[in-house]
Amino acid sequence: MEELGIAPSKKLGQNFLVDANFTESIIRGAKITPEDKILEIGPGFGALTEHLVKTGAMVTAIEFDRKLAAWLRERFKNDPLTLIEGDACKVDIPSIYGIDTPFRLISNLPYSAGTVIVANMLSLKTPPTEMLVMLQKEVGLRLAASEKDEEYGSLSIRVQSMYNVETVRLAPPDLFFPKPEVDSVILRLSLRADRPEPALFKTLSTLTKVSFAHRRKKMFKQAASVYGSENLLKAMTTLGIDPDIRAEKISPEMFLKLAQELNGLIHGS
Ligand code: SAM
Repeated sequence: MEELGIAPSKKLGQNFLVDANFTESIIRGAKITPEDKILEIGPGFGALTEHLVKTGAMVTAIEFDRKLAAWLRERFKNDPLTLIEGDACKVDIPSIYGIDTPFRLISNLPYSAGTVIVANMLSLKTPPTEMLVMLQKEVGLRLAASEKDEEYGSLSIRVQSMYNVETVRLAPPDLFFPKPEVDSVILRLSLRADRPEPALFKTLSTLTKVSFAHRRKKMFKQAASVYGSENLLKAMTTLGIDPDIRAEKISPEMFLKLAQELNGLIHGS
């Protein structure tokens, strides 16, 4: 960093992995094959990238920091790495490997954009077959939460409808430089075969976002503003859901069924 004349940016979530054993164990656990197509978001100083490129897989990395991107270009000039300089929240992800080509996301995501990056992946035509990602622990808890948990919300339901979520391990602050103020966690999200098709996923997203807009209030009034009281009451009655219920009491499976019912009533599908 001194060489580049930069200080770690909090805004860009720059907490770099400095524990080589930990990094190697992530890569070992990832079981990468030369046939894999891998996307890494936020390569930083290449702690993960250097192992990824050695696997023989195709690797593309997106780095926002201009100075780091220039450094990475030089560092990996003899390696099979495609580097994109830009904001991963704005890069056209399907254009990287092709709109129908399966790929895996393997990243230590920046705290600042981790949630948006994961959420954006969900609505791709071809979402990653797997996301092996390091995130702020609190975000990890949200993604894995069930209706029994305080962290439960729209994102938990959207993610779990598309992916099986598994906590791989916790990552304490002393694995990073600079040390973050909070713990991190590695999650493995594996794409579900029974995931909703895009139109249903869109309904599920709208339904859960509006239902959780005021999480302590009953969801009926909030969701009825989008779907109409009549449709919503009919759908909830069909599924035996109490119209006085709050969103935080409805399981991900039941939300998906409700989205399905509403789709049927509105679009006849
Ligand atoms: N992978 C490296 C490691 O584990 O040491 C760095 C991880 S660090 C937590 C996050 C990295 O993401 C930083 O290099 C930061 O510059 C980059 N970054 C932050 N926001 C980004 C964005 N929107 N798009 C792409 N990269 C971003």
